Formats: sequence, C-alpha cells, structure tokens
Amino acid sequence: MAENLYQSDGHRRRRVNRLKKYIISLLFLSILIPNVCMVVLLFRVQTLNREVDGLSGQMELLFQKIQGMEERQDALQIRAVSEDVQGTEADVYTAPMQGETPVGEISTPEEEPAHKIYLTFDDGPSTHTGEILDILDQYQVKATFFVVGREDETSKELINRIVEEGHTLGMHSYSHKYAELYESVDAFAEDFKKERAFLYDVTGVESVYYRFPGGSSNTVSNIDMREFADFLDSRGVVFFDWNVSSGDAGRQQLSVETLVRNCTSDLSERQTSVILMHDSAEKRTTVEALPQIIETIQAMEDTVILPISEETTLVQHIQTETIDEWR
Ligand code: ZN
Repeated sequence: MAENLYQSDGHRRRRVNRLKKYIISLLFLSILIPNVCMVVLLFRVQTLNREVDGLSGQMELLFQKIQGMEERQDALQIRAVSEDVQGTEADVYTAPMQGETPVGEISTPEEEPAHKIYLTFDDGPSTHTGEILDILDQYQVKATFFVVGREDETSKELINRIVEEGHTLGMHSYSHKYAELYESVDAFAEDFKKERAFLYDVTGVESVYYRFPGGSSNTVSNIDMREFADFLDSRGVVFFDWNVSSGDAGRQQLSVETLVRNCTSDLSERQTSVILMHDSAEKRTTVEALPQIIETIQAMEDTVILPISEETTLVQHIQTETIDEWR
C-alpha cells in the first residue's frame, strides 16, 4: 500500500515536472515568438522605408523632369511670341532661285491653318494680268501684285481691278530699271514717290508693300540694300521677298509642269510660303500653270491661300533693324 502511495507520489512529481517544463517552454515561446515577430517586422519596416525613400527619389526626379519640360515649353512660347513681335530670328533658307538668291526667311509659329501660301505677281500689269485676275476670281483666291509704273488706260484699269477684287496692291518700283533705281537712296526715293503717287491717283490706295526689283538680296545694287529698306520703313512701307520661286524670272519659258512643280513641291515644309511669279507679257506659261498651281494648293490639307497683309509673316532675304520696329 505504502509502496503504491510512494509510486503514485513519484508519478505525480514527474507529471508536475513535465507540467513545469511545459509551462516554462510555453512562457519561453510566448516571449520568443513576439520578439522574433518584432524583429521580422522591424526588418520589414526598414525594407519598406528604403523602398519609400527610393520611390520618393524617383518622384523627385520625375517632378524635376516635368518642371524642366514646362520651362522649355514656356521658353518656346516666349520665343514664338518674340519672333512674332520682332521677326528677328531667321531660318536659313536655300531654295533655288532664278538669278535672284534668297538668304533667309523669317518664320514664326502660326495659328491654324498650318500653311499659309501667298501668290505674288511681279512686273505687271500686262496683257496677262486680266486673265490672271479672272483665274483668281474663278478659284476665289486673293493674291498680291507688285506692279510697276504703267500709265496707259488699260494698265490703270487692271491696277484698279486688282484693288477692287480684293487683292493686295504692292509696289515694284516705277521704272524697274536697276541702274537708275539703285543708283542712290535719293534716286530710289524719287522713284518711290512717283510710283506711290501714281498708284494713289489711280486707286485711292496708298500701298504699304514693296518688292525690290531683283529682291533685297540682288547683287546689282552697289549700295547696301538695307539703306533702301530703311527708307521704305521711314515711309511706313514694308518689303517682301519670297521663299518659293516659280522660276519664271529667267529668259527661257518654263513648261507648265515645271512651274507647277516649282511652286508647289515643298509648301508643306513651311508655315509661310511666298511664291514669286511674274505677270509680265512674256510669261505665258505662268498664266497657263496658274489653275493647276491653285488646284494643287487647294487640295493640300490645312493650307490656305491669302493676299499679303499686315498679318503676314515677313519673308525677307536680308536682315534689317527696321524689322524690329515694324512688327
Ligand atoms: Zn521685277
């Protein structure tokens, strides 16, 4: 009996010991597990912190890039506005010309439509001017005529038609004699006065546009062309050269096909195209090519044909100080 009791006593102690061990290991685990969890969590938090830091850095870089882009955009807008106002920045321009070589084109970013085309006719009026006016009327197109001093009645009627039908009347000197015209500023001024007065008498319009015979980049004048440009500016007149040439200035009569190609092949490359043509008596194929030239341009997307006006971006072969003041 006593032995039994003793045995059951030992048994109980062992059970108590096992229970103690169990409790101790339970306590140990209850301390260890949260600690391990805490360490793991701390480690994870640190990793996340590093990731957040990395992302912040990337975001900062992105913000800097966006800011840079915005600044560039602002700079471009400022440049566009200043070019529009001053017209001083010239794109180098190298299209082939017949005898008359252009040097630069002043271009500005413009509003819609993207391409503005100006048809210009020099040296008229002539026997072809009436037909040219008819064609322009048929296609509802306005152009610009840089006329010379012809005082016969037919020429006067044609000059009047130019104005009455909504085209721009420009001057191209009264005499169109290079040697006399470019002899001196005084000679130029005299010719200018004569032509302006003549056109005013005929039409009642005081023309404010001029095209130098041979262009401002002509190699005939011994006097710096800027002196003549300054003179024009002092009279409130602006001169226009061209950046597209039909090629009809030469002695040889070009084919209709060549004229159409010369006038239209690269118009989509520019915002402003001033096309040089001649409505003088010997330029028959220019008249014949005109309908096709107009049709080709009218078929172009986002393109409009306009007469030269004060809105027109200056196209000048030489750079002058007066451009700044004019615009
Ligand atoms: Zn001319």
